[in-house]
Amino acid sequence: MTDTIATLIWFAGLIGWYIIRRPFERKARKARVSKSLMDRQEWILLACMTIGLFVIPVINALTGFPKSLDRPFNPVIAWLGLAPLVSALWLFRRSHLDLGRNWSVTLKVRQHHVLVKAGVYRLVRHPMYSSFFLLGFAQLLLLSNWLAGLSGLVGVCVLFAFRVIREERMMLDSFGDEYRAYMAGTKRLIPWVL
Ligand code: SAH
Repeated sequence: MTDTIATLIWFAGLIGWYIIRRPFERKARKARVSKSLMDRQEWILLACMTIGLFVIPVINALTGFPKSLDRPFNPVIAWLGLAPLVSALWLFRRSHLDLGRNWSVTLKVRQHHVLVKAGVYRLVRHPMYSSFFLLGFAQLLLLSNWLAGLSGLVGVCVLFAFRVIREERMMLDSFGDEYRAYMAGTKRLIPWVL
């Protein structure tokens, strides 16, 4: 493993991420929406994620900026980054498959929206966000620059912190006691822990 290979693995992961999401995005455009919380805050959160997971690593890979925040490349750490990367991609795909037509990039309730409690949603309420955190850890381990390595996790933390309560409130408004009971039986990100 070299520094360049680790960086290429990171970008291959991002391409995999995009390939997994694309067909769901296409389908989602067709499904009718009954309630949308898309507003400026949602745009800013999505922008933070994109800047952290993609824009900053690309700038760093192409220009080396910011050189002063480079850390020595360690092949063992880079190898360790493969585990969260592969797990993130698997969980990302799994949660899309389980949510099916109920999925949306931003906070939306669809016409005929169904509360999914099966598959990975049996274990945690926000498996897709868990996969974002795994992706952020992979980025930190694979990229040997503190800014490019940490920016993904920062973006994901911002998205999660500002979105999750809003999302759960929206689900409570739509599904009432069914969601309340689901909340009582599941954790948010890590089964039985958090
Ligand atoms: N927070 C979830 C889903 C992210 S996608 C996760 O991390 O896995 C966001 C959309 O998914 C929201 O607009 C909401 O309408 C929908 N959603 C979230 N949890 C859901 C569930 N358990 N069943 C059905 N739809 C859900």
